[in-house]
Amino acid sequence: MNTATNSPKAQVPDVAAQITFAMRTMGVAPIPRNYELFYEAYIGSNPTLTRELAALGSRATQEELDQLGEVHFGSHQNRVVDSAHSKILTELEALLRLLKQEQTSLESYNKLLAETHTRITSKNSTSADILRNAIAILSKATGETMAHGEQTVEQFSQKSQEMDQVRRELDEYKRIANTDSLTRIANRRAFDERLATIFDGVSKPLTALVLADIDNFKKINDAYGHPVGDKILATVANVIKANVRKDCFVARTGGEEFAIIIDGNTSDEVQQICERVRVALETTPFKNSKTGVNYGPITISLGFCMAGDAEDAGELYAKADIALYCAKNSGRNRTKLYEDGMKKDFTKSWLIYRR
Ligand code: GH3
Ligand code: MG
Ligand code: MG
Repeated sequence: MNTATNSPKAQVPDVAAQITFAMRTMGVAPIPRNYELFYEAYIGSNPTLTRELAALGSRATQEELDQLGEVHFGSHQNRVVDSAHSKILTELEALLRLLKQEQTSLESYNKLLAETHTRITSKNSTSADILRNAIAILSKATGETMAHGEQTVEQFSQKSQEMDQVRRELDEYKRIANTDSLTRIANRRAFDERLATIFDGVSKPLTALVLADIDNFKKINDAYGHPVGDKILATVANVIKANVRKDCFVARTGGEEFAIIIDGNTSDEVQQICERVRVALETTPFKNSKTGVNYGPITISLGFCMAGDAEDAGELYAKADIALYCAKNSGRNRTKLYEDGMKKDFTKSWLIYRR
């Protein structure tokens, strides 16, 4: 059931249109691999890629773009998928060969059975010699067929183990592709997939999307440098993970931005969970044990929206983003639930989808 049918539709950031616009402005060919590159750079899940793409300037050649894609995901992705593909093909061909051999072996056994049957049902079948002879032939053929069958079973089992190995490699590849390398939690790609599932079946009014953004993180980077900022990002991810249930989905969706998807709680309960995370982070010590420098307190602002208050993933995201904006705008280090009438001043620019 959806309770948001009468509420004004929140402004949904049209990422695809913005990416296509950026590509057109930069004179980049509108082909899928360029779109993938721009998408990754645009959502900021890989800051190095974003920096390197920006450094190519407004007239990047296709070769330069391809090189960038190769470095950041192309080569690894192609290597793993190509190798899995060729392994599966080889295994399937081997299995087909085995099946053919088995078929030939069974066909000759069948032929032999038919011939022996004809012989012993003929007029002279009473002859003990013929019967003895038939039994010997059958017993030999049965033994050979059984041995062949056992060998086939063994080869099948070996092939199936090899297929299992390929499957494990693909699973591992999927895990790496969905994990943020800095914080070891889910990345934006995994988040987009998970977010879409909220609306792909029966409606889930008790599912909440929480967006969290570190407060004044730029100052931390400016004061202590990027490497310290990176360590703080990893700790923030750990604190969020440690303070929500195991079944909650936690992702780093951009630079210093995180998302949590919580299933099965009312908005009051989600508010409490958010506050637990917020206070846990606020009270986490961020002291460098060697130098004694205290980077803390580190705080986050959180905004959330219940799935029952949105019609699709884009609207849910936009509304949670508006709530986050309100949390920032009303002083930071707090949690806000999306409510009708909340608005966002688009002249402020701390947004994920800023230009
Ligand atoms: P606000 O409270 O409004 O969110 O302020 P803010 O300073 O956190 O927000 P702003 O968007 O102005 O700056 C975000 C900063 O996050 C800028 C950028 O240097 C930093 N950042 C983004 N990604 C990374 C990263 O991967 N590592 C580090 N160290 N810093 C990052
Ligand atoms: Mg911030
Ligand atoms: Mg931000």
